[in-house]
Amino acid sequence: MSDRPILILGGTAEASNLASRLIAKDRRVISSLAGRTRDPATPKGEVRIGGFGGARGLIAYIVKHDVSVLIDATHPFATQISDNAILAAASTKTPFVRLERPAWHARPGDNWSIVASLEEAVSAIPAKARVLLALGRQHIAPFSRRGDVHFVVRMIDPPEAPLDLVDFELELSKPGKVDDETVFLTTERLTHIICRNSGGAASYTKIKAARDLGIPVIMIDRPHRPSTHRVPDIESVILFVDKTLGSV
Ligand code: NAP
Repeated sequence: MSDRPILILGGTAEASNLASRLIAKDRRVISSLAGRTRDPATPKGEVRIGGFGGARGLIAYIVKHDVSVLIDATHPFATQISDNAILAAASTKTPFVRLERPAWHARPGDNWSIVASLEEAVSAIPAKARVLLALGRQHIAPFSRRGDVHFVVRMIDPPEAPLDLVDFELELSKPGKVDDETVFLTTERLTHIICRNSGGAASYTKIKAARDLGIPVIMIDRPHRPSTHRVPDIESVILFVDKTLGSV
């Protein structure tokens, strides 16, 4: 095993899976987590937690630890850390790749309104709707101006401060299988879903259930990101690492 570590900017299931795959190939891996989740699934290998202190901090970390490859496997909506990664890789001349799960695309039967921001999503809700807000706790505040709407707010960790919504209920859980999501949407008499186009299989089940039930989805589009160095799956990252560092 080489002493020079591969640094994975993580916080996603793909990042954890990638760490396991690289370790299985006898690569030294450090996974970096932001430290936002209360009980994060800890990836295999070495793990560091917390911000670096901006792009400059990330550059200093890469230099200090003699990082061999930088992999940005953060969430598609985590734009700040991804910008910092591009900058840090360029300025330290560290080989760099971005693992980004493909976005979802509407299929026949889907009824999506695609919006560009949370603010647009707030405005797109019809009066008196019953809405599933499938968003992280830091994205709820803009919906407080819709006192005419009933929200069912689903999140994994409880909010740190009381939610500033007029009419809501809190559901502390993860997305279930399609059948569970169908029962949930029906029992709660939900008329709309608001979510971000995160991609991936785990949270797609609600989209499939909404299609089956004819429930409209207000889909917040991904931020537009540079497509250079971007690959869609773990296999492509492993190929990149093998090409860069040589096969082991
Ligand atoms: P962000 O806005 O892009 O990043 C904000 C700051 O958090 C960064 O500037 C950095 O601080 C720190 N940070 C973010 N990811 C980090 C990482 N993997 N390791 C060390 N520091 C990190 O990110 P965010 O949207 O708040 O997301 C935070 C983390 O949660 C990401 O790692 C992401 O993969 C994960 N996540 C995000 C979402 C989402 O919806 N955004 C969903 C699931 C998981 P410094 O500038 O001090 O380095």
